[in-house]
Amino acid sequence: MFAFDNSYARLPARFYTRMAPTKVAAPELIALNAPLATELGLNVDALRAAADVFAGNQVPDGAEPLAQLYAGHQFGGWSPQLGDGRAILLGEHVAGDRRVDVQLKGSGPTPYSRRGDGRAALGPVIREYIVSEAMHALGVPTTRALAVASTGETVLRETGPLPGGVLTRIAASHIRVGTFQVFAARDDADALQHLLDHAIARHAPDAEGPMGLLRHVMQAQARLIAQWMGFGFVHGVMNTDNMTISGETIDYGPCAFLEAYHPDTVFSSIDQHGRYAWKNQPDIGLWNLAQLATALLPLMGERTEAVAEATEVLEGFRDLYATAWTEVMTAKIGVPDMQLAMELLAIMAEGQGDFTNTFRALTIAPETARDQVLNRDRFDDWLLRWKAANPDHAAMTRANPAIIPRNHRVEEAIDAAYTGDFAPFHALNAVLDDPWQETEANAPYRSPATAQERVLRTFCGT
Ligand code: AMP
Ligand code: MG
Repeated sequence: MFAFDNSYARLPARFYTRMAPTKVAAPELIALNAPLATELGLNVDALRAAADVFAGNQVPDGAEPLAQLYAGHQFGGWSPQLGDGRAILLGEHVAGDRRVDVQLKGSGPTPYSRRGDGRAALGPVIREYIVSEAMHALGVPTTRALAVASTGETVLRETGPLPGGVLTRIAASHIRVGTFQVFAARDDADALQHLLDHAIARHAPDAEGPMGLLRHVMQAQARLIAQWMGFGFVHGVMNTDNMTISGETIDYGPCAFLEAYHPDTVFSSIDQHGRYAWKNQPDIGLWNLAQLATALLPLMGERTEAVAEATEVLEGFRDLYATAWTEVMTAKIGVPDMQLAMELLAIMAEGQGDFTNTFRALTIAPETARDQVLNRDRFDDWLLRWKAANPDHAAMTRANPAIIPRNHRVEEAIDAAYTGDFAPFHALNAVLDDPWQETEANAPYRSPATAQERVLRTFCGT
């Protein structure tokens, strides 16, 4: 079924715990991502008949299932041991020159579960499927969703019992900043060296040593976060265990897209101080990268010199980010003038205009963007100067989607799934697959939530 070659399982035994997923009562396949399967050279028909594999009841040939160890800073506080508490890495599927992790999420308890049950409710699994695939369609590096299985079991959450689900996640790897941190915290330089070599081979073959990897991850994360910002994406839980070395977005928990633009927007119910607000994401990115640098220090030679050099390298992040952000925003307004772009954001922040629809209006029928802002005089003045700058319409069309996964639509798909109706989930996935044009099919998905529909708070729900 998969062409496994499991390089992570060849790393030292203290990197993971070998174990199979826990079997569930009644596996059923809810969704299979056929285009992704095809892209990975997999047999779609065989996968369609493999609910047992996607629910964790059958370990496919060649898999060497394991739960990965990692640590991390959660909301700034150090957690010395996290790890896959509800996930099992089946192995690495190799297709041509591409190597991807195949991971089951929601597949039962592991030694890293702490107080959790190792399970996932169907809702968060569906959310991750929808949003990660939408991010991919938008061109944002991300882990992918290959399949959703229901378990026929219920999991107990704050709101009561919910149907359980398992997500099959595909990722360039699941190596996190927190994977380096756990070995640094244990003074295990030998493990760090193994992990460094492994990460460089997989993600940055041209990088030299720890400083080379650090630079590589900085560049990837600067680009990634700039893209998030440009689509109004709020990750919601940018802990160091949720930041990849590959530069892919990972762990779609309480994430959400801005509707009304305000830079301070926070959705996550557990983010009480707004640490992971939309506007803070670049700074948090740098903070996390500083933790990566700290973890790599033992491999960087003489300590004083290493600290000085790492600090200097980290200071480069602001420029890397500024370059990436400028690229994103100047494409969004079609004019290579960052001041003009920032002025538009300031005008938008004054009103309750919709982030996605303001930029899309500007792309398709510029005058109508006026309806999205409060200070119309200021906008009219801006629009005159913008027009005079001869905006590049084609660039704008590629940078400003017609649709994003609006939070109330994601909730609607989840609510229906809980009643056994997966039609809204499939319909939403179908329209999000082509976010770049207005179509009849996506018209209902382009409107912001009404006051009643608005989702103010999001939950990890795991
Ligand atoms: P997250 O904030 O979702 O990235 O998860 C942080 C940590 O909590 C990871 O180590 C997860 O494996 C663990 N975790 C989250 N939910 C559960 C659960 N239901 N059972 C066991 N561990 C969990
Ligand atoms: Mg996580």
